[in-house]
Amino acid sequence: MRGSVTGLCFPGTCRVCGRVLIGQEKMLCLRCLYDLPRTYHWIFPCHFITEPLSSMPSCTGAISFLFFREESPYRKLLHRFKYGGEKEIGLYMGFLYGKELLRFHTTTEKPVIIPIPMSSFKRRKRGYNQAEWLAAGIALATGWKLDVSAVKRVREKTSQTVYDREGRRENMKNSFIAQSIPYREVLVVDDIITTGATMESCAKAILDTNADIRIGFASLAYVE
Ligand SMILES: [Zn+2]
Repeated sequence: MRGSVTGLCFPGTCRVCGRVLIGQEKMLCLRCLYDLPRTYHWIFPCHFITEPLSSMPSCTGAISFLFFREESPYRKLLHRFKYGGEKEIGLYMGFLYGKELLRFHTTTEKPVIIPIPMSSFKRRKRGYNQAEWLAAGIALATGWKLDVSAVKRVREKTSQTVYDREGRRENMKNSFIAQSIPYREVLVVDDIITTGATMESCAKAILDTNADIRIGFASLAYVE
C-alpha cells in the first residue's frame, strides 16, 4: 500500500479555495498546494517551538508542517479534517509531510510513529482520531512503523481555550499512560501544537515507562 496514497481518488473541489480539481490535482488545486504555508521547521535539526519541551533532555525536537494563521484560508482545510469528517485530508497532508521529513532525516534510526491518542468516548463521538490519519499518511510516505496502541489516553482535557499556558499544563496532567515499548526513538504526531501542553504530558507518560527513549514531535499545524 505504501506510496499509493497519491493514487487514491479525491474527487471534487479544492478543499481550500473551492475550485474544481482538474487533471492530476488531488485534494488541493496546484496553486493551493504550491502556496501551502509550510514552516520548514524540519530543515533545522532539534527545532523547539515550545518552551516545556526544550527543557526535556529526551526530546529531540518539535516541528509543525504548516502555520495556522488566524486569517489564512488554510484554516478551512484543518477544520474540515478535524471536525468535518474529512479524515482523508489528514492522510493526504500526512503523506506530503512525511515526504519532507524523509528527505531531511539524517540519522539511520527510523523513529516509530505514535499518534496522540483519543479517549474511547471521544473517538466514538467523533468517529475517528484525526492524529491517527495524519500519522498513517506520514507512515505511508516514510515507511516508518506506526504504533497506535503504545500510549492510551486516560483522561480527556476540558476545553483548553479558557486557560493560560500554566493552566493548560495543569489541565493536561496525567492524561496519558504508556506501555513499556522496545523502540529507541519515537515520533509523536498530533494535529495542532499550541502551547505544547499535550505533547509534554504525553512525553512524560512515555518516559515514565521508557527512561532511555528519545522523543520527537510532529504536528500538522502550529498556531502562531
Ligand atoms: Zn485551491
